[in-house]
Amino acid sequence: MEKETNKKANKLFYEQKNGYDIIQREELKACEDYCKGYVRFLNDSKTEREAVKNGIELAEKKGFVPYKDGMELKPGTKVYYSNRGKALMLAVIGKKPLSEGAVIAAAHVDSPRLDLKQVPMYEEDEICYFKTHYYGGIKKYQWLTIPLELHGVVALRDGKTVEVCIGRDKSDPVFQITDLLPHLAKEQRKKTAAEFVPGESLNIIIGSIPDEEDAKKRVKLAIMDILNQKYGIVEEDFLSAELSAVPAYDVREVGLDRSLIAGYGHDDRVCAYAELAAILDTEDPERTSVCILADKEEIGSEGVSGMKSRAFERFVGALCDAQGIKLENCFANSFCVSADVCNAFDPVYPDVSEKRNAAKINYGMGICKFTGHGGKSESNDASAEVIAHLRRVFAENNVVWQMAELGKVDQGGGGTVAMYMAERDIDTVDAGVPVLSMHAPYETVSKFDCYMTYKGIKAVYAEK
Ligand code: MN
Ligand code: MN
Repeated sequence: MEKETNKKANKLFYEQKNGYDIIQREELKACEDYCKGYVRFLNDSKTEREAVKNGIELAEKKGFVPYKDGMELKPGTKVYYSNRGKALMLAVIGKKPLSEGAVIAAAHVDSPRLDLKQVPMYEEDEICYFKTHYYGGIKKYQWLTIPLELHGVVALRDGKTVEVCIGRDKSDPVFQITDLLPHLAKEQRKKTAAEFVPGESLNIIIGSIPDEEDAKKRVKLAIMDILNQKYGIVEEDFLSAELSAVPAYDVREVGLDRSLIAGYGHDDRVCAYAELAAILDTEDPERTSVCILADKEEIGSEGVSGMKSRAFERFVGALCDAQGIKLENCFANSFCVSADVCNAFDPVYPDVSEKRNAAKINYGMGICKFTGHGGKSESNDASAEVIAHLRRVFAENNVVWQMAELGKVDQGGGGTVAMYMAERDIDTVDAGVPVLSMHAPYETVSKFDCYMTYKGIKAVYAEK
């Protein structure tokens, strides 16, 4: 009798299983290999520019060539287009015409960080600092007293660009923002976490030895002299620089079973890499595969390199022009996975999530029907048919996946690039890797979920 009941329950109930109870042991080797590649990519990609550069390097090894107007685009041709070195688009031309739509995956390669201000350098009481302006949603206190690296570019008046990367090499110095000692933090402790670190106090120490010259600000002079000797820059050059302080942490395995990966910038380089690896593995797809690694998602997808930019129309439009097809017709028949991370249920903070609809670590790729906040404001809210399409593709390809929701309905919220793809008349759904400690300087994901996200996107590209 009991057996009969189970049979019915098995048939009728939706029950999720831990990914490790589903995956074939042989496949775990592929999962490990995939994650090794991702760890390498993440270690070397601490800004959007570095992610784009490394993405191009990987793509060229797999036969992708820069897109050029007028070039021959036949089925199987692999092209990429770098948007100002800050966003990257890749495509593998399909057998079917683009009037039948493209299969698109869109992720972002910018992450929360501390940008230097345009006049960043100052000396106070014989210590020299860089002033910063945070980029994206951060909890400011998390950035105090941690080691920081400096990455970015200085664009000179003569048109040359100087690349800066300090702290990545183990022999380099790192940088730091100080915090108040607990002994004197009586007043600080009374403040809320939002108040006790004012944005204007996120100042990075960059030196303390005064110059021999009898100048007004001798430490600043000595530091400027070091920068001048190393990079040939003067203080005015900071006005046209994009320099960011990012956590100086290596990507590491977490846990005695090494099942998790901690690193800076999983959001959203973990999905960006999944897309990239998936399109690099794609040969002769039915419909044209398109991959976008966008910039500026963390500040609303604005700007020429963000997902709202018409650079995307320019690229896909050019592919359509080559086939004499209208871009609108292509978009209307396209399908897009907005590949962005989702929140992983955290047993230490269960109160902010609604357990039945939260993504769990090791349960696979997380699909978000909607993101946004409150009553689904500012969300894409994918249609039922779109989710059903993914269910079918994933079931056919043994992709382990789960449904995901950011948190309790009234708790807060957040967005992705999904809305901006949907605005283009493209059927779009959010799906990606669940993350613990999202937007922290050191975020954590599970290897299993990373691998399943790659497998999921690859299956979407390979659909018949
Ligand atoms: Mn994101
Ligand atoms: Mn984010």
